[in-house]
Amino acid sequence: MRLRTYPDPVLMKTAAPVTVFDDELRERIAEMFTIMYEEKGVGLAAPQVGWSARVLVLNPSGARDDETEAMVVINPQLKKRWGKEVAEEGCLSFPEIYVDVERAKGVRLAWQDGDGSTYEEDLNDFRARVVQHEMDHLEGVLLYHRMSPVDRIRYRRELEELAAAAG
Ligand SMILES: [Zn+2]
Repeated sequence: MRLRTYPDPVLMKTAAPVTVFDDELRERIAEMFTIMYEEKGVGLAAPQVGWSARVLVLNPSGARDDETEAMVVINPQLKKRWGKEVAEEGCLSFPEIYVDVERAKGVRLAWQDGDGSTYEEDLNDFRARVVQHEMDHLEGVLLYHRMSPVDRIRYRRELEELAAAAG
């Protein structure tokens, strides 16, 4: 597994649901956490490491040694959303790019963990934002698609450099 940056085609695909909850799945999840912490992210979606599956890992605290907020989110579904808030977001697949994105302030999320157990919980504020950002990745929706025309001009050079690096 390695981090994929825009415009890697795997980032544009719709990710497939997880149906088998085995050791291989849990090993891949552990590897995703390692990559997320190495890259200093607060969330990572499987397509970002070249794996087109509906799997997210997050730790809004961003701290490897504080896993109280760490979550494994498999086959997520948004049951409800409320409120609206604009805040700046970055993405490990778009280094050096930060744009304002409007998201729901809170969401009711249903998901499975690495053992296939199901959960449903209300998330608010930053946790809700991270989940919404990572869930976009499962549909092939990227920070690029959330950028305003002004942002695309402002970050034209960075986007061109990413495209050039991908060859
Ligand atoms: Zn992202």
